[in-house]
Amino acid sequence: MLPIYVKNRDFREPRDPVYLLVAGNGTFLVKKMGLYSASVRPDGSVLGLLNHTEDLTREFGRVPYSLMCRVLGFFRAAFCLHGGEAIVFLYYSKDTRSFCIKVPPQQIYSSAATGSKDSTGHVVYESCERPPQYVKLGTVHSHAGFPAFHSFIDDRDEEHEDGLHITIGEVDRARPDVSVSFVVNGRRFMLHPDDVLAGHERYAPLLPPDSWLSKISCVSGPGRKEGTQKTPETRHAQPPHDDDRW
Ligand SMILES: [Zn+2]
Repeated sequence: MLPIYVKNRDFREPRDPVYLLVAGNGTFLVKKMGLYSASVRPDGSVLGLLNHTEDLTREFGRVPYSLMCRVLGFFRAAFCLHGGEAIVFLYYSKDTRSFCIKVPPQQIYSSAATGSKDSTGHVVYESCERPPQYVKLGTVHSHAGFPAFHSFIDDRDEEHEDGLHITIGEVDRARPDVSVSFVVNGRRFMLHPDDVLAGHERYAPLLPPDSWLSKISCVSGPGRKEGTQKTPETRHAQPPHDDDRW
């Protein structure tokens, strides 16, 4: 078996004539053959080593239906009241197999403000304090009235944020568009919504708590008139509550 070394600050040239070197920019095969020394990127298989493939195994439960109905209600309110998109953070506890939502303070840029029909990417948000006993699982953000594709802005934002990233588009429709992915080191694994979101094909938006809506501030465009806000059409199937855990 080839010896394997890691190129960190403590790395010193080993005596081995042939070895694999795992470096910050990839893996190299190093040969010191007397007449020459060389480092090359292994092309194809390396003798004695088995192949490996990129993969992702989910170690968390499906995101509950009622959680996403409330998040959808929040996104629909942000769209109807301000014409923009919004974001929430998703946390998970492996011990209790429960989820938690936190709404970061966020500035929504309405489509009137951006002068563009495409308002995707126009939400600026702050960080949140992590709830005790939870780890951050990822984010859920909306694309207002547009489909739930992963935009280049999403790629840029999520490049350095490992985790689950759910996008909800066309939030004003009876059946919103949903896209689910998990990002690891900038590599996006597309996931099927059935595997991650319970009951996503029948989401019914619930009124979000005032504590969520109060986190939104809106940058309005010059053409926007006061009093033209639409009332969000949300269902009130349960009493509104401030309990952000499921
Ligand atoms: Zn997006």
